[in-house]
Amino acid sequence: MKNQEAIMTGLGRMKIQDCPMPVPTPGEVVIEIHYVGICGSDMHFFQYGRIGSKVIDRPFVLGHECAGIVVAVGEGVTEFAPGDRVVPEPGVPCGSCEMCKGGHYNLCPDMRFMASPPNDGCLRRYLAYPARMVFHLPDSVPLLHGAMIEPLAVGLHAARMGGAQLGKCAVILGGGPIGMMTLLACRAMGVSRLIVADLFEKRLQNAVRLGAQETILASETDTVEAVLALTGGAGADLVFETAGNPVTLQQACRCAARGGCIVLVGNQTAPVELELMPLMVREVRVQPIYRYRNIFPIAIEALAAGRIDLSLTEPSLFPFEQAEHAFQYTIAHGQSIIKSIVELIHEDRTEVVSK
Ligand SMILES: [Zn+2]
Ligand SMILES: [Zn+2]
Repeated sequence: MKNQEAIMTGLGRMKIQDCPMPVPTPGEVVIEIHYVGICGSDMHFFQYGRIGSKVIDRPFVLGHECAGIVVAVGEGVTEFAPGDRVVPEPGVPCGSCEMCKGGHYNLCPDMRFMASPPNDGCLRRYLAYPARMVFHLPDSVPLLHGAMIEPLAVGLHAARMGGAQLGKCAVILGGGPIGMMTLLACRAMGVSRLIVADLFEKRLQNAVRLGAQETILASETDTVEAVLALTGGAGADLVFETAGNPVTLQQACRCAARGGCIVLVGNQTAPVELELMPLMVREVRVQPIYRYRNIFPIAIEALAAGRIDLSLTEPSLFPFEQAEHAFQYTIAHGQSIIKSIVELIHEDRTEVVSK
């Protein structure tokens, strides 16, 4: 077994190089990585070398969405054995602070998150990882879909925090990857009506394929007017802002129904001016979310039970050797690709299903 990593060597540059084969320390497993999804944050780091205060100042391995097979276990690991199909959750919380003990481990101040400087990511052939943040993947769920559980977890957490349920009407502002995962999550949680708004037609086509009943082409139609027209003037019970854009945030405030909820999913990196009184008189709840917590098992169960079908996202695959190209291509085709995935080892599905 030889380890290799796709390492970012500069802005927009990445190369494959040999690296040491990891040896599991007590409590760790070593995973042979089969698939790695490219996240918006990975692309941002690749292009700009930083996100807010997180700066890449050395050759750096990106990637935090992956799935693979256990090849070695460290001392004390009893719940995994070589051959197990697994998905690691990319954040390792301290486990002992107040946030961790209270179950809100995504808010742990000492979280070590893959591909968030200073912690390298998983775009490598072999990865040592704490077993306590690794989950079994049932045979019925392809490893390819396993690598999409992380962004799906964001959508599920957003939907859960917003109170998604049967009878609700949701508007998703932004039809990018996270918007689409939020759509799948809302649908699985029973949301009755799903409306998606985006500037690009191709993204709206994706949204319809994934289950949106109505779409709004924001480059041609006023989003707020369209939402109000579709809801008889009432607005939407749930508004998910997934674009991380001040304009869509303002729209979110204006198309939320009385007693509704605005879920802030997209990163708002710049200061924004908000008129709060219209929200106050309608008691609109504003719910920011940060990553997710306690949701990988729910996502895995939903995939295994067929409640969520990730094949609808039609991911684009790229070989590991072309990791740099995968990033460049995904950045250039961001309007149409829901998910790009780097394939290190192809999973033979017929073999897995018949096992
Ligand atoms: Zn991600
Ligand atoms: Zn903690």
